[in-house]
Amino acid sequence: MTTDSEQLSFHDLGLNDKLLAAIEGMGYQTPTPIQANTIPYVLQGRDVLGQAQTGTGKTAAFALPLLHNMDLSGKEQLPQVLVLTPTRELAIQVAESFENLSKNITKLDVISIYGGQEYGRQIQALRRGVQVVVGTAGRIMDHMRKGTLKLDALKALVLDEADEMLRMGFIDDVKWVLSHTPEACQRLLFSATMPRDIIGIVNEYLREPCKVQIKTKTATAKTVHQRFLVVKGLSKLDALDRILEVEDTDGVMVFVKTKTSTMEVADGLKARGHLAVAINGDMQQNQREHIIDQLKSSKINILVATDVVARGLDVERISHVINYDLPQDNEAYIHRIGRTGRAGREGDAISLIYIKDMRQLRMLERVIRHTIEEMQLPSATAIIEKRVARFKHEVAEVIRHKDLSKFKALMQDFQVEYGAETEDMLAALALLAQGDKKLFIKEIQVQDQRNERRGRDDQDARGLRGKRTERDQRGFRSQNRGERDLDMSMRTYRIEVGRNDGIEPRNIVGAIANEAGINSRHIGHIKLFDKFSTVDLPADTPKQVIEHLKKVWVGGKKLDIKEDGR
Ligand code: AMP
Repeated sequence: MTTDSEQLSFHDLGLNDKLLAAIEGMGYQTPTPIQANTIPYVLQGRDVLGQAQTGTGKTAAFALPLLHNMDLSGKEQLPQVLVLTPTRELAIQVAESFENLSKNITKLDVISIYGGQEYGRQIQALRRGVQVVVGTAGRIMDHMRKGTLKLDALKALVLDEADEMLRMGFIDDVKWVLSHTPEACQRLLFSATMPRDIIGIVNEYLREPCKVQIKTKTATAKTVHQRFLVVKGLSKLDALDRILEVEDTDGVMVFVKTKTSTMEVADGLKARGHLAVAINGDMQQNQREHIIDQLKSSKINILVATDVVARGLDVERISHVINYDLPQDNEAYIHRIGRTGRAGREGDAISLIYIKDMRQLRMLERVIRHTIEEMQLPSATAIIEKRVARFKHEVAEVIRHKDLSKFKALMQDFQVEYGAETEDMLAALALLAQGDKKLFIKEIQVQDQRNERRGRDDQDARGLRGKRTERDQRGFRSQNRGERDLDMSMRTYRIEVGRNDGIEPRNIVGAIANEAGINSRHIGHIKLFDKFSTVDLPADTPKQVIEHLKKVWVGGKKLDIKEDGR
């Protein structure tokens, strides 16, 4: 069922004054469609099957009516509401929503319970008495088995993001919890998609559920062609450089994570011959406006920005949005790519990711309900074709518009003096005229990570790249490797590849930078020994990154990185 929610107010829905005051305090003006449709059913005590995504306001859709129905009159301190979530992050977020919405209700306590947290603290909190428990299925199950979480007084059970719990393999735990909650308790299940197993749960555990389906408009405009590129074997900057060469671009927005990266990436692009400018929150408003005007009037083509700065930016000529770094959350992605495909035009969005980002990308696809197509790194052939076409065009333009008489005389002289063939002469001039961006480049060979030969091939590839853009490469190094924050605390790690494996420091830098997404300027001193090497990395490098690096291949061997305990 879907009704028009615009006319309704929270007051019309019959929520009590304390909740209305909290809602007002949070700045919610009108109920979202999922709230307008779900709240009345939950207030009536009905089971509900809600199909809605994150971002639709579904948390308040179940939290508000459940809080309204809560019985706080008795001395009973046992939990009345249990919410199961697929992740600890969601558990924390949902618990926070309950807390915010119930802030005017005294005698009400909320707790989030999830794996990885000390049992002791959780047990103490449960003993003190809580009315709302939000947690992940496994840990909730543990407490139920231990008897530290008693659900005899439970009035409502919510399964939030049920399809995600299914995908993460928690469905048996969820069923176990369901079958150990009181028969009479109200059950609400929310899921963005309805796979067969979820429908199975609905049929088995929900009683004549009211169905609420919120058909969100496709979150991302249909006019935007969304692609991603897995970057391997070269830096993101070089990958972006290649993309910009072959794509038909007009205005381009490049999104990065931090203010510092806006400068780094803009500088890197400038060094590669692009009209790029950084825009970030450190700049004065009028300075930012000036830059946006320049983009509008085509004085610059590429803007490198953070999410914050790009809010509300409306420039029609943006043909491409590049996610140089994936955004923190899905909403930011939707917002970013909405900068293109404006005013009925077509647009392109390209995300540059490392293999480790694949999971985040897949999650994103689920939320935006749109497949993001994989693209390949533009081949050398494609680049050569573009460069040659551009070169021919430039030559034709010079012939058409410039006075060449003096140069004709010069070349005639030259021909007589050197006895050169016309063809040779033209070819030599073409070679000279190609400038920094050579017309004929070689293909980059990138092997699969599982391939034993990877290290060697990578080395070859880097060798080729080194020749192709030696100047750029040096520039990049000096900007990025050279300017490492001196006060950054570093830790020495040992890696199981060494001189005998035919590697050089640059292979290690490349592999770590590309595979783990560590900025090369954060990679410190590298010492090569025969059978192993050491590399300094920031002391706060996350554990997962180190774990990921263990499996990265260089010189035909796994890095198997660990803290240097020699
Ligand atoms: P959710 O889908 O529950 O994750 O909520 C998405 C976001 O919408 C959260 O930041 C909520 O605080 C916010 N939100 C929920 N309901 C409303 C509402 N009626 N009006 C404005 N914002 C809301």
